[in-house]
Order: sequence, then structure tokens, then C-alpha cells
Amino acid sequence: MEPFQRTHEKYLIIKHWFEKYGLMAGFTTKNDGYSEKDYTSQNFGFHVGDQPAHVIQNRIALAKELQFPLEHWVGAEQTHGVHIEYVQNNQRGRGAKEYDTAFAATDALYTDENNILLTMCYADCIPLYFFHPKNQYMAVAHAGWKGTVFGIAKNVLTAFHEKGIRPQEVEVVIGPGICRSCYIVDNYVLNKVNDALGEMAPSVYNEISKGQYELDLKRCNQLILQKYGVLRDNIHTTEFCTSCHDTLFFSHRRDEGKTGRMMSFIGLCEEE
Ligand SMILES: [Zn+2]
Repeated sequence: MEPFQRTHEKYLIIKHWFEKYGLMAGFTTKNDGYSEKDYTSQNFGFHVGDQPAHVIQNRIALAKELQFPLEHWVGAEQTHGVHIEYVQNNQRGRGAKEYDTAFAATDALYTDENNILLTMCYADCIPLYFFHPKNQYMAVAHAGWKGTVFGIAKNVLTAFHEKGIRPQEVEVVIGPGICRSCYIVDNYVLNKVNDALGEMAPSVYNEISKGQYELDLKRCNQLILQKYGVLRDNIHTTEFCTSCHDTLFFSHRRDEGKTGRMMSFIGLCEEE
């Protein structure tokens, strides 16, 4: 089952969560925005060299379409680390209209409060979405190879566990990021993957030439999630690749570094 449905120009939505829980979770496309040149046209990253005014225009337009006010969004300064932050209502707006107020050095956000939209930015890294339907805990994480092998997924599950949530009850969606055949890594990265996955590692990569490997980051995360107790049936992985699907997404690798960012989002909107 493909979890992401392309029902809008601006974004893809995780359909089964929206229909079942009213959860607003998805991933933006690069289309139908205000940014120009390398950032054409819907860039959500403040930190990539685009004009801040265009990024804000893109954000205001999406906020309107999602019916989730920009004042209720939160964002992070992502550093390919594994730090996670709990977000409360009084922190809403941090990183929404400027980078300076974003959560510093943070690669995952979680909350159990309504009317907060957790956001993260990407161009090839893997977005991980977490939801615990009963207690309504939700999280979003940014998992490039570093976040993946150094434990961002585990850290979300640990944070949930500290709130009394068992990993067996958590649903996860692995979102659009670079696919196995588009992602070539060297021995340095491969050694870290071997360290993180142990005997499961060989199923996530294959050698294509001496010291060069195709690496399946989505599957890496799936196996790590299962290792820490998430049920296989509770993990859904997208087929969308940010590099292959060039009419839909920016790709850091494909666009050789100078490009925009898509945004993942998750939140429950209720009347206040
Ligand atoms: Zn691809």
C-alpha cells in the first residue's frame, strides 16, 4: 500500500491516517510556489540561500491550504544529529517565519497536543512519521544516513516510551527520500551501517563497483524500527524517491547541492 496520495499540487498526504484519525500528515512537492531559479518553486528551507520573503509566501500559502495557521507551526535547525524535542503549545511559531527561533540542533520533534504542526525540511533525507493513536502522540524525524545509523528513530521510540507508550502500539510511515538505486555511498558510510544493523545489514546495500554501494536508507530505518519493537505491519513505506521523481521533488544529489527543500508535517487540528 502506498501511504502517500497526491491529492493536491502542493503536497502529498498520508491518506490512511487522515481518513482514520483526522491526522494532517504529509510531504510537500516542489511545485506551485513563489520561489525562483534553483528554488523553483515551492521551497520551505530558510537556510538554503532562497529569498526569505519567498519562503514565507510559500509557507503562508500552504498554511491556508492545510487550514493550519503558520503561527501554529514549529520548525528546527536540522544538523543530521539525533536530538529530539518535546513541543508544547506555548512554543508554537518557533521557526515558522524565520530560522533564528527554530529549535536549535534538533532532528526530531514530538508532541501530544493539538493545533501544533511539527515540520522538518528535506532534499533526499528520509522523513519518518510516528503516531500513537490512543494517546495521540505524534513525531516527525529527519533521517539522513547519519541520523539513521546514529539512532534518530530509536530516540523517538525512547521518548515515547518515557511517556508510557510501547513501541508495539506505534504506527510509522517512512516518507519520500532518496531510493536505493539513486543513493551511492562509500566504505566509510557502509561501515556505520554495518555497525548499526549487524547481521541485518547486507539486505540494505549492494556493491556496484569497488568500494561503492547502493544503500537503501528507507529499509535501514524500517529494520531499525523493527529492532526496537515497532511491528512490521505498523510500518508503511513510500515508493516515492526525491531523485527519481524529478517533476515532484527537489533532490540535493540530483541538483548538485543547490536546491530547495520539501517539508514534512504532522499535526492534529481541532477547534480551540
Ligand atoms: Zn531514486
